[in-house]
Amino acid sequence: MRLLIVEDEPKTGDYVRQGLAEAGYVVDLLRDGSDGLHAATTSDYDLVILDINLPGLDGWSVLRGLRDAGRTTPVLFLSARDEVDDRVRGLELGADDYLIKPFAFTELLARVRTLLRRGNTTEADVLQAGDLQLSLTRRRVTRAGRRIELTPKEFGLLEILLRRRGEVLPRSLIASQVWDMNFDSDTNVVDVAVRRLRAKVDDGFDAKLIRTVRGMGYVIEDTDP
Ligand code: CA
Repeated sequence: MRLLIVEDEPKTGDYVRQGLAEAGYVVDLLRDGSDGLHAATTSDYDLVILDINLPGLDGWSVLRGLRDAGRTTPVLFLSARDEVDDRVRGLELGADDYLIKPFAFTELLARVRTLLRRGNTTEADVLQAGDLQLSLTRRRVTRAGRRIELTPKEFGLLEILLRRRGEVLPRSLIASQVWDMNFDSDTNVVDVAVRRLRAKVDDGFDAKLIRTVRGMGYVIEDTDP
């Protein structure tokens, strides 16, 4: 899941970015409204978190621009203003939710999860390969009914493998989706993470679900007949 934050206040932006990254999301942070609108209309984000008072373009204009461009990406407003008028205005313009600053991070995370779930209503909550199951909403992984503890990055890695089950994913793609790294970055970090994930998911089971395709990347497959 890829999130965009547009927030000019350094402390709030950094705090939200760090918290969401630790929760396992890939997060981009921009400080300027026009940069934010450009990014939100040219890249695919699952959610945009938008401040209202911004340099460049204010949050209202970013939201309007986004909807005018035909983008239905869910938008969560962050605002220091708590007037009812603002709330009505935001929701009329097509914001999906509204959070008043200062807010508790757990509250933000709960709203983010709700919006992401709502934005993917056609999507199944549980991704699966063989007897391995990953619940997106419960952030929980089991194999043969037994709970597997994963770090947020391992969870993100398993999630993209399962979303594209049967498809060989190049390291560069995994690196960009899970670590937000560029093509030319060192993809050794991917190999290390896959090794750790595989140890947790496949060790002790006859059917090995995660496979290395030499020179190409990684794939998760249900190897049962
Ligand atoms: Ca601001």
